[in-house]
Amino acid sequence: RASRSAPLASKLLLLGTLSGGSLVAYSDSNKKEEEQKQKKKKKKVVVLGTGWAGISFLKDLDISSYDVQVVSPQNYFAFTPLLPSVTCGTVEARSIVESVRNITKKKNGEIELWEADCVKIDPANNKVLCQPVFKDDPEASQEFSLEYDYLIIAVGAQVNTFGTPGVLENCHFLKEVEDAQRIRRGVIDCFEKAVLPGLTEEQRRTKLHFVIVGGGPTGVEFAAELHDFIEEDITKIYPSVKELVKITLIQSGDHILNSFDERISSFAEQKFLRDGIDVLMGMRVMSVSNKDISVKIKSSGEVVSLPHGLILWSTGVGTRPVISDLMEQVGQGGRRVLATNEWLQVKGCENVYAVGDCASIAQRKIMGDIANIFKAADVDNSGTLTEEELQDVVEDINVRYPQVELYLKSKHVRSIKDLLTDSEGNPKKEVDIKAFESALSGVDSQMKSLPATAQVAAQQGSYLAKCFNKMEHCKEHPEGPKRFRTGGHHQFRPFQYKHFGQFAPLGGDQAAAELPGDWVSAGRSTQWLWYSVYASKQVSWRTRALVVSDWTRRYIFGRDSSRI
Ligand code: FAD
Ligand code: MG
Repeated sequence: RASRSAPLASKLLLLGTLSGGSLVAYSDSNKKEEEQKQKKKKKKVVVLGTGWAGISFLKDLDISSYDVQVVSPQNYFAFTPLLPSVTCGTVEARSIVESVRNITKKKNGEIELWEADCVKIDPANNKVLCQPVFKDDPEASQEFSLEYDYLIIAVGAQVNTFGTPGVLENCHFLKEVEDAQRIRRGVIDCFEKAVLPGLTEEQRRTKLHFVIVGGGPTGVEFAAELHDFIEEDITKIYPSVKELVKITLIQSGDHILNSFDERISSFAEQKFLRDGIDVLMGMRVMSVSNKDISVKIKSSGEVVSLPHGLILWSTGVGTRPVISDLMEQVGQGGRRVLATNEWLQVKGCENVYAVGDCASIAQRKIMGDIANIFKAADVDNSGTLTEEELQDVVEDINVRYPQVELYLKSKHVRSIKDLLTDSEGNPKKEVDIKAFESALSGVDSQMKSLPATAQVAAQQGSYLAKCFNKMEHCKEHPEGPKRFRTGGHHQFRPFQYKHFGQFAPLGGDQAAAELPGDWVSAGRSTQWLWYSVYASKQVSWRTRALVVSDWTRRYIFGRDSSRI
């Protein structure tokens, strides 16, 4: 049948060419030209990074009006909160990653992705220089540069060793998927080494001494995972060395989980005590070798040396070189993260935005701004405000600084308006700015910079995408607060972070949670809450299904301890 249909097909082809073929070709090239033109008209958006901030931007962006190019050394998104679970095989590595191309394939256009590192940002010429990741293939490793109209920097942070000698060479980190996989192998190696013949008991103990530096969420979660893994799975298959295992957590401050509520810190400390995890507080690591870690006891100044089998370094975040270089160029040298304004624009470059762990919204002095808002409202400079003007002031402050209202509530003042009206609710004849200022004194020092979390990164990415989606509309109809220097209104409302709380899984199917409204819970039911929240936060149905099935598998069969 194939041989008979072949001439038929060629006849049809001939017919096609004779009749309308050239016409089709013509309209095709026309369409292409049209597309090219459209593309030229569209503003070029370059996104650096495909982590929490970058992906949430790309997911929410309406790409029909932009020409979007993405540069990232990873062609996948990794669900970092589950990385500690990957270190012990509770969850498999592939279950927490989703291909970026899969996430960003959209109905209304195309996003281009280049697997490369951005090595230089040139804001003066609106260009970025990129280096593909394939360093050993000369054809596929040529640097290229991209021009942009808008640049979104979402490259995250890197590990920070604080220059401690030996850390880079001898410690594990937990930032990337590969790190988690390396740790998984490392842990199993320690057990396989410890059961070999010919080792003394002391040597076996050393191989099975797991040290974690840093008592933040990552360190604590890893300690908990490792403890569960050893208790529930490993000791069954290495019964001879069961008694020799030890986990030590080294923390420089006085408590672990010190970004959490005190109740959670102490719950975690007590749980670790019961579990036999050694928590050493008030210690500073001086140096690390392949055999020992030397730590200084802060209170006495004494330096002790602990032999180890494996170390996880999970403390501190550092700046990526490409960001340090950019900071030098825009007059922000010496900072740890890029300073942006409330609209997430990098200070000093209007068309460059920074989101996630590589950025931080520079804290304005609220008091100074509020004085300006008053001045702007008091047009005739009389020192009094009409009711209408007062309304403007209150609205302005609320839009720009929602935290002012919260701050006043904490000082038992119901609202800003209360401060400015008399007991009958009428505006005071003379608005007493002095009284207002004294009620607010302290608000500046209470403003904290946002934590470096996935929650912040994702909200920033999504906020920015929404701004981009209404860019044209808001040019004509600005929705932001008044500009008090140049007049008019800001194009967009400023970014506002909503805190939904935070979790700390502590092992043994227990977790602690801090939820909005000063609500703290810990225990088994919280672990179930953790399961459901983390399942719901997955980027795709595929990873959701995989993660849930991994958890189920672990319940039924335990974790796998093969070294692959
Ligand atoms: P990242 O998610 O780190 O993404 C950075 C992206 O930039 C990556 O795709 C990277 O490949 C890419 N990149 C790097 N260099 C370049 C370059 N030169 N050019 C282009 N691209 C580049 N937060 C929570 O809220 N809850 C949690 O439970 C939680 N648990 C965590 C557990 C662990 C083990 C870790 C490590 C972090 C955890 N975090 C958690 C923090 C959270 O992961 C980060 O705050 C978040 O990833 C920050 O997002 P980001 O987009 O700024 O950076
Ligand atoms: Mg990102």
